[in-house]
Amino acid sequence: MKRLMLMLLLVASVAASAQEVICHRGYWDTEGSAQNSLRSLVKADSIGAWGSEFDVWMTADGVLVVNHDETFEGITIETAKWKQLKNLRLKNGEKLPTLEQMLKCGKSLKTRLIVEMKPHTDRAQELEAARKIVKMVKKMRLEDRVEYITFSYQGMKNLKELAPEGTPVYYLNGELSPSQLAELKVAGIDYSIKVMREHPQWIDEAHALGMKVNVWTVNSDRDMEWCINYGVDFITTNAPERLQQKLMP
Ligand code: MG
Repeated sequence: MKRLMLMLLLVASVAASAQEVICHRGYWDTEGSAQNSLRSLVKADSIGAWGSEFDVWMTADGVLVVNHDETFEGITIETAKWKQLKNLRLKNGEKLPTLEQMLKCGKSLKTRLIVEMKPHTDRAQELEAARKIVKMVKKMRLEDRVEYITFSYQGMKNLKELAPEGTPVYYLNGELSPSQLAELKVAGIDYSIKVMREHPQWIDEAHALGMKVNVWTVNSDRDMEWCINYGVDFITTNAPERLQQKLMP
C-alpha cells in the first residue's frame, strides 16, 4: 500500500512538472527589453523559461527578419528589401534582428526556441521562407532546440515536411480539432485562451491522441490557473515570472 502511494505521488509530481512556461515574443515586459529582441531571448533564458517564442517574416530579397507585425515602422516586410529595414531600431535601441542573429544568440542559451513562421501573402514566398528557416536552423545545429508554430495551414504542412522527422510543429489557427489534425502528425495544438475556453475538451482529446497542448497568450491570474488546472502542457505568456510562481510546487 505504501509503495502504491509513493508511486501515485511520483506520477502526480511528474505530471505536474510537465507544465512549461514559454515567453511570448521573448521576455519583453522587463527593464531594457523589447518584443522580439535579442535581449528578450536572453531575458527569457535568464529566468529559466522553458521556451521563448518569436515571429519570423521573409523580405522580398530573402532575408529572414524577426518581428511580430507584418510591417515595421510602416514598411511591409514581405515586400521590402532588407536594406530598407536593416538600420531600423526596436524600442530598446537594438537593431531589428534577423533570424540568423536570433539563432546565434540562442545558441549559447538553454531555453528552447519557438519559431513562429508568419503566413505570407505570396504562398511561394512562404514556402521559400519555410525552406530557408529549416536550412538555417540545420546550419546552426539547433535542430534539437527548435519548435515551429504557424497560423498557416499550408505552412504547417511545409514545415512538417521540411524539418527533420520528430521536430515539433504546432498549429495556431484554432479552427481544427485535435482529431482533425491527427493525420498530419503535428505535435499538437497551440491555440488562444479564448478558443480553448470554448473547447476545453480538446485538451483531453489532444492528450488521448498523443498530442501536446499549448495555449496563448495567458496573462491574467484567472487564465493561468485555468490552464494549470486543465493540464495544459505549455503556457505562453507575457508574464513568465508570475506564471512560474504559480507553477512552483
Ligand atoms: Mg507569435
